[in-house]
Amino acid sequence: MAEPEVFDVIVIGAGPVGENIAQYATQGTPLTAALIERELVGGECSYYACIPSKALLRPVELAATAAHLPGITGTRLDRRALLARRDEWVSSYDDSGQVDWAEGAGLTVIRGTGRVAGERTVELTTPDGTRTLQARHAVVIATGSEPNMPHLYDGFRPWGSRDATGVDEVPRRLVIVGGGVVACEAAVWMNALGSAVTILSRDDRLLNRVEPFASEITLKALRKTGVEVRLGVEVTECRREDPEPTGLGRVHGGPVVLQTSEGELTADEILVAIGRRPRLDDVGLASLGLDAQKALSGDVPPWLILVGDASGEAPLTHWGKYRARVLGEQIAARATGGTPTPAPEDVPVPQVIFADPQVASVGLTEAQARTAGVDVVVSHVPWTAASGAALLRDDVEGGAQLVVDRASRCVVGATFVGPEAGELLHSATIAITGKVPVDVLRHAVPSYPTASELWLRLIEQLPQELLRPTP
Ligand SMILES: Cc1cc2nc3c(=O)[nH]c(=O)nc-3n(C[C@H](O)[C@H](O)[C@H](O)COP(=O)(O)OP(=O)(O)OC[C@H]3O[C@@H](n4cnc5c(N)ncnc54)[C@H](O)[C@@H]3O)c2cc1C
Repeated sequence: MAEPEVFDVIVIGAGPVGENIAQYATQGTPLTAALIERELVGGECSYYACIPSKALLRPVELAATAAHLPGITGTRLDRRALLARRDEWVSSYDDSGQVDWAEGAGLTVIRGTGRVAGERTVELTTPDGTRTLQARHAVVIATGSEPNMPHLYDGFRPWGSRDATGVDEVPRRLVIVGGGVVACEAAVWMNALGSAVTILSRDDRLLNRVEPFASEITLKALRKTGVEVRLGVEVTECRREDPEPTGLGRVHGGPVVLQTSEGELTADEILVAIGRRPRLDDVGLASLGLDAQKALSGDVPPWLILVGDASGEAPLTHWGKYRARVLGEQIAARATGGTPTPAPEDVPVPQVIFADPQVASVGLTEAQARTAGVDVVVSHVPWTAASGAALLRDDVEGGAQLVVDRASRCVVGATFVGPEAGELLHSATIAITGKVPVDVLRHAVPSYPTASELWLRLIEQLPQELLRPTP
């Protein structure tokens, strides 16, 4: 039997998170890392998720804004050019640029499927057979997540998020099942591309993890652009004639007939976007006497690390990459006898939902803070409260909200809903991470006339006693 190939660190999954942890675990050290990938180096994010969706959404957002800015006439979307822009941003599904980056960073990229096969051991399956790799220090599972797909769709080939971001043939009538981030973002670009979109959501509001005012604005805005949104609806049965493997982003067969709790519905395609779960089913946990549940609860040996979507933490690229930087540095420090730089426990998670308008939030919602027992004060203003914000689009609807801990006077949560709201978010992330009290924040002067002046209005709304310096 051949001797196992030995690396200091073996990373299974070369998405953005796997790439980052391999880089941070080795840079500036003599350590070696193998980066195992069975599809495309760069992962879901680069080819099928964040990048193509945002490549599609930006021109859609600009066209919609231009249509509501007196002084501009004649802006229209060019469907073919829009899809070409998407193709350009996903490098036409070619990962050679990312492989070059990884190799340039000193990482060994290995094509194949990785599976843990015992202590610090990984079995690698390639078309040429199976090999064994051995890690001196750490094995990382960065295998991402996979979409939830109820059995009622078995055999009918519904679209998943990959088809929506990879859209090539625009269905005339598209039903989107789900009311979360992927559903709302996809509704915006598919509607702009010309589909008649119907959202069916089982929940009684869209985007059920954000502040309720953000859900309401999103619902109203989608309906205003012609998207039909039905809330509190359950799909009970799916039928389709001639389902066919026509390829990524193409209509997968004949019309789809759905039975729902509110009657029958026919569409040319259906996109199922009802959340994702960590991809842990086939990564060899059983070889260590573990299962997914145990692994997600952190009950793993110290040499085994779960990170990114596979860890069950916030399924966001920037969050996974942050954790990869922290954990990668810890691997490097332990392996080289150094001391890892401590990371704070309570780092807030930011998220931007690129619907129209954008929903940008960080930290706790009011409800989450109250459930956690924090005595909070909430300040809320409409987007038009600051002229710099209102100037961005004439028919603007949106709002801004701060959740402030009365005891510490620090912001614990913030939500901005409006045009380009995502660009405002980092100010709140810094305020929360840096624990800057509001009596200090009131001296951070935003430029006039910018959307940042919403901070002035929000702070003015707070009780006076919070704005005086503590004696
Ligand atoms: C439509 C959509 C839009 C999104 N938009 C955003 C956004 O705007 N911003 C944001 O922050 N997040 C967004 N996300 C979430 C983001 O895509 C994920 O959080 C991110 O991709 C997670 O990175 P990862 O490296 O953990 O996993 P992935 O990107 O999924 O990468 C995991 C990699 O592991 C590989 N792999 C899996 N199993 C094995 C194995 N056994 N052996 C070898 N390789 C394996 C996979 O092929 C894959 O390449 C979006 C998600 C979707 C679906």
